[in-house]
Amino acid sequence: MIIDLISDTVTKPSKGMLDAMLSAKVGDDVFSMDPTVNALQDKVATLFGMESALFFPSGTMANQAAIKLHTQPGDLVICDKYAHIYNYESGGVAFNSGVTCKLVDGNRGMFTAEQIKDVAAVKPEIYLPFTKLICLENTTNKGGGACWDFEEIKKIHAEAKKNNLGFHLDGARLFNALVAKNETPQQYGKLFDTISICFSKGLGAPIGSMLLGPKNMMQKAVRIRKLLGGGMRQVGFLAAAANYALDNNIERLASDHQKAKEIAEVLESCSYISKIEPVETNILIFYVDDKIGADNFIDKMKSKNILLTPMGEGKIRITTHLDYTDQMHEILLKELKNF
Ligand SMILES: *Cc1c(COP(=O)(O)O)cnc(C)c1O
Repeated sequence: MIIDLISDTVTKPSKGMLDAMLSAKVGDDVFSMDPTVNALQDKVATLFGMESALFFPSGTMANQAAIKLHTQPGDLVICDKYAHIYNYESGGVAFNSGVTCKLVDGNRGMFTAEQIKDVAAVKPEIYLPFTKLICLENTTNKGGGACWDFEEIKKIHAEAKKNNLGFHLDGARLFNALVAKNETPQQYGKLFDTISICFSKGLGAPIGSMLLGPKNMMQKAVRIRKLLGGGMRQVGFLAAAANYALDNNIERLASDHQKAKEIAEVLESCSYISKIEPVETNILIFYVDDKIGADNFIDKMKSKNILLTPMGEGKIRITTHLDYTDQMHEILLKELKNF
């Protein structure tokens, strides 16, 4: 048995999900004729209290389309130094939209309204880029699944509106934050101009993301999606998986969070651990003693069929997910105690 904790994207569709996929009614989505996609888009837009939603093949493409919607080449996007849009989208902000990023030195991927006040309010000068967009990420990926304080998001929103800036949320793991903090999708729908969410992270679908926003922006987004090569045909089979994930896999995220916390508790008591980041959701980041070394630790665990992720700078990441069973959990805790 392999205990794969590399990411919450390693899950495989369950029997129920596969059944839902097989019985999906489909059509050509490039002509907006796939009934399952159309129904899912309406359902998610309603869930967030937003006007419109558009199904994308990946979270990266949904984010990239959003950035393109909000900006012109030469513009500036404000995001945290840990932001996925900056670090893990292959330089797409520059390639697709021709923009630069102002990287804010936040805490675990989160910053404050105070920190961005000046760059948000920058006056146009011939030598300055136009600040156009603020992008937040919740939960933060590189920040170890950390959840934003909603009150701080409201303050940042106020800065965005005061300065006429777009406000985008990379919500690849937003449902983890909603479950952990007992928040609602509507809260976020009210504040953000555009939101991307992923069905292929904790929710356990094989593929699929959604970009939400006002109708006029989403009409433009259809064209950008096509331009990026993301116009899909009988994609209702995948929308059915996403729909199944929404109906069945949200509340259970709490058990992923619980398991991550239990792993952290065991690590606390292990003498070879030098530091553990706070655990709020399903991602746990920790450091082992220099004597052991991160790469060596990961190799040793791999020889026991336990797969972990190196995150650079001595960081090791564990991500819990719906295919990580109680039995695997027991084995992992034992192996960590006995290491
Ligand atoms: C995974 C992820 C994405 C999207 O990634 P894809 O692999 O393209 O689906 C975007 N933002 C964050 C924070 C993520 O963790």
